[in-house]
Amino acid sequence: MKTLWTDQRLQRLFRHYNKKFWGGKLPHFLVVNDKDRMGCRCDKRRRRIAMNADTLRSDREVRTALVHDMGHITASGHGKDWQREMERLSAAGAPGIKRELTLYRSGPFETRRSIVESFSDTAWEGTTWEGAIMLLGRKFNLISSDGKTISKWAAVTLTQAKKALRRVQRLHLHNPATVNK
Ligand SMILES: [Zn+2]
Repeated sequence: MKTLWTDQRLQRLFRHYNKKFWGGKLPHFLVVNDKDRMGCRCDKRRRRIAMNADTLRSDREVRTALVHDMGHITASGHGKDWQREMERLSAAGAPGIKRELTLYRSGPFETRRSIVESFSDTAWEGTTWEGAIMLLGRKFNLISSDGKTISKWAAVTLTQAKKALRRVQRLHLHNPATVNK
């Protein structure tokens, strides 16, 4: 039986994990169950973590998603810093994190999933598609310095990234409370 994840319950879990895994050192973030949200997002500027707990299949997945996003409070994206933090949390017994890490770890290269997520992360911060391409297209080696897509793989990744970014922008429109200035 899955728990009914109210905002209060999520907030309690945040406090509990902050104490248990970070020694209470993370700043206070508001945690909400947002039914219009895809996935789970950590908004550092507003100090707010919003997840759609109803779309997660089990209580364990909710707990894993919260730890994942609490990790973003100190490390943006899913690169080395975030992975190192997840390794520490996994060793400390954080639920589901060992498996979570395998989804994002792919040797020297980023996985498509983590690249696409980085695009939607940056959309939450208000970055436009053009801005995201400039910033992340180069960072993840998807486009060359003259702006051309470097491979078929990169082209497919960018198509998915664009879709993800547009979805976030649409959500902003539907939910005026999250519109970035
Ligand atoms: Zn993430």
